[in-house]
Amino acid sequence: MADVSLTWLGHSAFRFDTPGGKRIYLDPYLDNPKCPEGEKQPERCDLIVLTHGHDDHVGSTVELHQRFGCPVIALVELRGWLAGRGVEENAAHAFNKGGTLEWEGVKITLTDANHSSSAFENGTFVYLGEPAGLVLEFENGLTVYAAGDTNVFGDMQLIGRIYQPDVAILPVGDHYTMGPREAAVALELLGVRTCVPCHYGTFPVLHGTPEQLRELTDVDVLAPAPGETVALPAKVAA
Ligand SMILES: [Zn+2]
Repeated sequence: MADVSLTWLGHSAFRFDTPGGKRIYLDPYLDNPKCPEGEKQPERCDLIVLTHGHDDHVGSTVELHQRFGCPVIALVELRGWLAGRGVEENAAHAFNKGGTLEWEGVKITLTDANHSSSAFENGTFVYLGEPAGLVLEFENGLTVYAAGDTNVFGDMQLIGRIYQPDVAILPVGDHYTMGPREAAVALELLGVRTCVPCHYGTFPVLHGTPEQLRELTDVDVLAPAPGETVALPAKVAA
């Protein structure tokens, strides 16, 4: 089976091409200043998965859904809010933490995250449920934990124990999320072999860097450039 390919689209936006030939977008904020021009208008999208409701994560979700008819998987409140904004209602794609759903052979689980989740509308913040992380177990068994926006928290050890992720996508930019110092501890708690940093460099306040993380961890820190695709090697047999 082919490897999972991961393409960083700047900020916390990623595209996965799965071993089964599906294309999944995670937090598709494609209008971010680091997203390459050629990636702003996707040619294809089979599924969108979201960690929380802030607009630097929801991004182009509604537009992509309307263009491709792709399902959108998210926490119940966020999914309900999107249903009121042009994303077709689908109760099966609205779930909550600890829940796993399967889509085309990919298992998707919502985990905890420490952050906030809201939309700013008509001068006020609208509650969009709790922020979350996501565990994606691909068709070949490769498991990726995308932490979403969060600080480090002790229960990352539980995520490591239960889902045994191979790769952790962690925010490292600091200010709104953890920076490299906390991310290094997150990697210890998770026990992963590879880290893909994100949520850095988009704006000047997101000043944490992958280089700073590398100085604090022995875990392999893969830091693709915006638009660069890397293969995530399949799980090593125990
Ligand atoms: Zn964010």
